Amino acid sequence: MIKEIKVKTALSPSHLPGLGYALNPYRGCSHACVYCYAPSVIHWDKGKWGELVEVKINLPRILSKELRVKKKGVVGLGTVTDPYQPSEKKYEITRRCLELLLLHDFPVCIQTKSSLVLRDIDLLKEFKNVEVGITLTALDDTLGEKMEPGASSVSERLRALFELREIGIKTWVFLGPVMPHITEVEALVDAIAAIKPDYVLVDRLRFKEGVWENVRVFIQEFKPELINEYEKIFRGGGEYYGEIFEKVMSRCEKKGLRCEINSL
Ligand code: SF4
Repeated sequence: MIKEIKVKTALSPSHLPGLGYALNPYRGCSHACVYCYAPSVIHWDKGKWGELVEVKINLPRILSKELRVKKKGVVGLGTVTDPYQPSEKKYEITRRCLELLLLHDFPVCIQTKSSLVLRDIDLLKEFKNVEVGITLTALDDTLGEKMEPGASSVSERLRALFELREIGIKTWVFLGPVMPHITEVEALVDAIAAIKPDYVLVDRLRFKEGVWENVRVFIQEFKPELINEYEKIFRGGGEYYGEIFEKVMSRCEKKGLRCEINSL
């Protein structure tokens, strides 16, 4: 379900590394990833995550006013929910915000799981300072579809990364969350390295409020043989992420890719 809403503010201060502001055109996200912890971040109390998306219909007008008076800073576009989720195709809120950010010469950092970002290449290439991050969690399209049902397929995301890179836009990959015993980290790093983004940021599964319940249901349905292993990781046991991050770092190094572990 889509609901149009009006907001009073557009930019909010961001505490994420490298960002000055956060800008989120949508509240709710129809990508409906099984591991999503955004509901706990925004205290979502409007039903099952993924079923309702609130479109901030007046956001460009509010942003336009704010950009005239705000101090310059990097704007993280889609810090909580995906700015290129399916509603963007119709509403173009992200696109209109980008037009304004370009006009006022604000640096922008985008993160998405959608190849719809390619629609805005005409704007992106005009920015002096812009970077686009593509999130990848698996190489297998069938599995990707189950974990992130509303997002672009893995192959579409890799193609988007390639096309953005080809026209000279700074690109990066958010490799995360690494799903224990599911994400094929070395094969994924190889596929990413072939495209040569500027860097990779790798992240663990974050068991914030509500996440374990969704992940447990997903594992029980699609990978029941892993349920004990996931329970162990959920309870904090095992050295899974220490080892897996070492594997990612060393594969990236071998492939000449800069890689960092998300420290948040
Ligand atoms: S794209 Fe991000 S915000 Fe949207 S459901 Fe997936 S993890 Fe959550």
